[in-house]
Amino acid sequence: MNKPSRLTFGPAGVPISSPKKDTYNGIVFTYEELGLDGFEIEFVYGVKLKDEEAKEIADYVKRNNIILTAHAPYFVNLNSNEKSKIDKSVQFIFDTARKAWLAGGYSIVFHPGWYMKSTKEEAYERVKEGLKRVINLLKDYSIEIWVRPETMEGLKKFGDLDEVIRLSKELEYVLPCIDFAHLRYRYNNNDISFFRGIMERIEDELGSEALENMHIHMSGIKLDKAGTHVNLKQSDMPWQEIMKILKDFNVKGIVISESPNIEGDAILMKKYYKSL
Ligand SMILES: [Zn+2]
Repeated sequence: MNKPSRLTFGPAGVPISSPKKDTYNGIVFTYEELGLDGFEIEFVYGVKLKDEEAKEIADYVKRNNIILTAHAPYFVNLNSNEKSKIDKSVQFIFDTARKAWLAGGYSIVFHPGWYMKSTKEEAYERVKEGLKRVINLLKDYSIEIWVRPETMEGLKKFGDLDEVIRLSKELEYVLPCIDFAHLRYRYNNNDISFFRGIMERIEDELGSEALENMHIHMSGIKLDKAGTHVNLKQSDMPWQEIMKILKDFNVKGIVISESPNIEGDAILMKKYYKSL
């Protein structure tokens, strides 16, 4: 399995300022014009990239040592009451992983699902079961990529910090995607010690290998019902302190900006991080 040699920053999808909107050109623009060597492909409305384009992307990212990730479709719910929906969810995550791997990606992230009427433990078992099916498929196809459940903001959504850490402990190929804005929202806490505590837990429970291999989402977040993403400077996220914490813990991997100004905040974080 791939391991990154550094911490890099990138946008969640094709930059707003990119004149061409396809994924390949979005990555080229991100690297050559914005000076960012990280990128997340957004398959959030479907895994639509053609194999040919994926292979072109792989050539480009390998040549330029870009760290590439992908986000699975939003429609995933591994705790659905309908078997057909669980099957589709497994397929969505697998398709994301396969395509990202073909494109030279190293890690993918997905939203695990909803508690529905299940207890937390029942939901956990079903999500774990679904994720195992994904991993078995990856093995069948000899695809080596990290598959990451994301920490989710809403209390009705599966994916608190305990759950993603536990899945990471119990399953191969699995590590957390830490979305700091979602955690700020879910636990209603923006103390610096809260964010430091998250990193301490990861180190204690998953080891320093997990810190050296992190997939992070960052943005500002509003405390409205939807948890609307906003730009870092328009939020109460102590983003500079979070950058310092990443530095203190010697974190490697990727930080993806999911702010509305996707590339603006990626550049902001990178510049600040580099200045530390
Ligand atoms: Zn997400």
